[in-house]
Amino acid sequence: MKALVVGAGPAGLATALRLRRGGADVVLVERQSMERLFADAGGAYELSTRSLEVLESLGAAELVRARATVLTHFVLRGPKDAPLQSLDLERAGLPVVSITRAELQRSLWAVLEPLGVTLITGAQVSGVVQDDDGVSLMVNEGVQRADVLVAADGVHSVIRRACFSTEPAREVGLAAWWGRTRIDTAFRLEQGHSFGVMVPQCSFVTTRAVSGDELLWTVCELAEPSRKQPRLDGLPADVRRVVEGAHFTARTRLLEQVPLARWVDRRVCLVGDAAHGMTPFLGLGANSALEDAVLTADTLLAHGPGSPELTVLLDRRARQLNPRIAEARRLGRLMHAKPWLHALFRLVTRLVPASVVLWQLKARHQRLVSP
Ligand SMILES: Cc1cc2nc3c(=O)[nH]c(=O)nc-3n(C[C@H](O)[C@H](O)[C@H](O)COP(=O)(O)OP(=O)(O)OC[C@H]3O[C@@H](n4cnc5c(N)ncnc54)[C@H](O)[C@@H]3O)c2cc1C
Repeated sequence: MKALVVGAGPAGLATALRLRRGGADVVLVERQSMERLFADAGGAYELSTRSLEVLESLGAAELVRARATVLTHFVLRGPKDAPLQSLDLERAGLPVVSITRAELQRSLWAVLEPLGVTLITGAQVSGVVQDDDGVSLMVNEGVQRADVLVAADGVHSVIRRACFSTEPAREVGLAAWWGRTRIDTAFRLEQGHSFGVMVPQCSFVTTRAVSGDELLWTVCELAEPSRKQPRLDGLPADVRRVVEGAHFTARTRLLEQVPLARWVDRRVCLVGDAAHGMTPFLGLGANSALEDAVLTADTLLAHGPGSPELTVLLDRRARQLNPRIAEARRLGRLMHAKPWLHALFRLVTRLVPASVVLWQLKARHQRLVSP
């Protein structure tokens, strides 16, 4: 089988790796240059136990573990340092790891490259056509032909637009800032600990980088297109110092896909954010993208493109993941609500026992596991 995979983010690299390991010829098509693709661009992903199992099955877990921080504790505070939640992830058997996007991609590429895959970087995709015998992708004024095309080209997927729906991803009115700050800012945080603050209309979360000498942080707040810096209203002084002392920041508007009932159309299928891009508040995006990748690739290898088995798999995934898009949006709205609603949300957050939150976290990731 010859496969085209469009997009070399977490979903595309994992799909290409699984297909290549299964004996498929793989052409991976990426819009960015090689340098940009693997460049350090900000914050960290939190990967679940299930993702570590997926990475293990891809032969990339060891590299990921070496480049990631194991998170043992998470503490959440409200305005004026009021404690809201304290989670002992280690005791609960929830070994979440925190890894930068660049390191996750570098780890997957380090395993994939020696297997012999064609990577086209700086690619301009201008069209896709499928017929009974295969699928053709117009890229860089040439045509790539394959038996199947897996679209892993993220929330602005051109393949989704060409084959599934022209409806663009929608804004949810929030923006995220990623940053990195050297640790000499007098902000105390032990290795393996993650710390968050939630105040009306603004949230902050940070961990120490695996090297130990930097804080990786994310600020989410109401989107204001003209802003060049995060607003930070209501955040404690030490947190503001961390953000203001950053040597790197990047901003992204938070988007979500309009749910699609079908993620497969004959020889073309969608994985990751191209299928179910959602806001980051459930921490599911990259985790579910990795799982989409292996389940989709395994089904393609076992049953071929256009098989009923692939339709059954992806229809089931759509039923599991589509409701999470709205759930993540609702949680994001509550976390960034106006003062009175935010106060109510904080009260509820404080009253929910840590054991219930940990159980929910476990269940959320287990729900993704295929039966
Ligand atoms: C602030 C923030 C924090 C997050 N934190 C977490 C977290 O803790 N845990 C978690 O699980 N998820 C998290 N996410 C979500 C996560 O970033 C995404 O869900 C994940 O990156 C999706 O992976 P993907 O490979 O599907 O898409 P992407 O990561 O978007 O990758 C798509 C790739 O396709 C390429 N591409 C795009 N268009 C084309 C084209 N036309 N041709 C060729 N290539 C193309 C892009 O350059 C890119 O390399 C977070 C997101 C944000 C914004």
